[in-house]
Amino acid sequence: MRIAVFGTGYVGLVTGACLADVGHQVMCVDVDAAKIEGLQRGVIPIYEPGLEAIVRRNHDEGRLAFTTDAARAVAFGELQFIAVGTPPDEDGSADLQYVLAVARTIGRHMDAYKIVVDKSTVPVGTAERVGEAIARELATRDVSIDFDVCSNPEFLKEGAAIEDFTKSARIVVGTDSERVRAAMRECYGPYSRNHDKILFMDVRAAELTKYAANAMLATKISFMNEIANLAERLGADVEQVRLGIGSDPRIGYHFIYPGCGYGGSCFPKDVQALARTAREVGYEAELLDAVESVNHRQKRVLFDKLVQVFDGDLAGRTIALWGLAFKPDTDDMREAPSRVLMEALWAAGARVRAFDPQAMAETARIYGVREDLELVPERYDAVDGADALVICTEWKPFRAADFARLRTLLARPVVVDGRNLYDPRILREAGLMYYAVGRGESL
Ligand code: NAD
Repeated sequence: MRIAVFGTGYVGLVTGACLADVGHQVMCVDVDAAKIEGLQRGVIPIYEPGLEAIVRRNHDEGRLAFTTDAARAVAFGELQFIAVGTPPDEDGSADLQYVLAVARTIGRHMDAYKIVVDKSTVPVGTAERVGEAIARELATRDVSIDFDVCSNPEFLKEGAAIEDFTKSARIVVGTDSERVRAAMRECYGPYSRNHDKILFMDVRAAELTKYAANAMLATKISFMNEIANLAERLGADVEQVRLGIGSDPRIGYHFIYPGCGYGGSCFPKDVQALARTAREVGYEAELLDAVESVNHRQKRVLFDKLVQVFDGDLAGRTIALWGLAFKPDTDDMREAPSRVLMEALWAAGARVRAFDPQAMAETARIYGVREDLELVPERYDAVDGADALVICTEWKPFRAADFARLRTLLARPVVVDGRNLYDPRILREAGLMYYAVGRGESL
């Protein structure tokens, strides 16, 4: 099939590259000329394991093209994927300006039947709005061309995007058109050889499915953080509680890790947007509001622990950070808990010395050059002479550490672990003061 993909971010680029990799002809289009120019030279704008090889291979073999020429992409694709950002608006609702801009572009340039596929995460009712925007452009041009809009939300995780896209548990498609069903079966057929993974449903159900999935996952995290905070005050170890509840198959072990809060471009904005949608239809989504406010509070937990350790006196101290990205295997810093911590530390007059395997360039881009931020090339460099080490992201190489070396390097033997990576007993035996999340200490 010939497929156009609007947006070459985490979702658009992965979608385009993976669909090309199973034999489709894909044209990716973006308004960011520098990004497109880089992609044409094989420069991948994001860190995503495995993506670079797939992009290069398919580009070299002529199945994957990059352009800023939207008219060309509209003419090219039978399917028009919309995979642009839907950031939160000031009131928490999803900002649809980029999605609707693409819809207008398609309406302006299409000269034959098109299937428009909403892959961006969009509120219920957006497919209708996309359809209306296209219809308005066609009316302005005084032409009558048939088209369909379907919903195909994306469930990939950054850091495992290729694996998630190619081996997804389900492919949700919302449509009431047999023609769209046939086209989407052809598009995703290569991923359904083992068994049919496509779940056809109504458009509105598909749109809501995406929000419901993210809200459920965010709820699990906030719930576990609530239990962790309680455990801490009750002198119980939440890690033992985690194992105790995870062993119940109705609960399961997935996604019940306590920590310093969820971040990223999806959970925070999607929980807020769903709560906002609820309000618009006169429903107070109390659970969703609580998930959001628990997370907001949780992102302050690391700073609060440091304040207690240092009796509120953080001015002039150097705090080492291991991990900046909102989660491992990505360079994405959107809504990362590390940002809340760093900004609070700077406001308190402390310096940050940080290491992250992938997100340091992004951190430098966001914060620029500043005296109270030093990014170092190796994790133990961050710790040398620091007053405390804080772990913000559970990158794999952080899971084991040389505690004796930490003890020697740190000016004060304080380790604050936002991801509960270590055994408190072993750290204490190594002479370190260890503060994790919900592990029964008083801090
Ligand atoms: P992103 O910010 O990484 O990329 C969006 C891209 O769209 C940018 O490159 C931008 O330049 C481009 N763009 C903006 N307007 C455009 C236009 N008119 N024409 C062409 N390109 C345009 O976004 P993302 O993280 O890939 O997210 C895209 C959507 O997918 C969002 O709705 C998001 O909620 C959803 N989603 C994201 C993830 C994730 O893990 N990042 C997972 C599932 C769903």
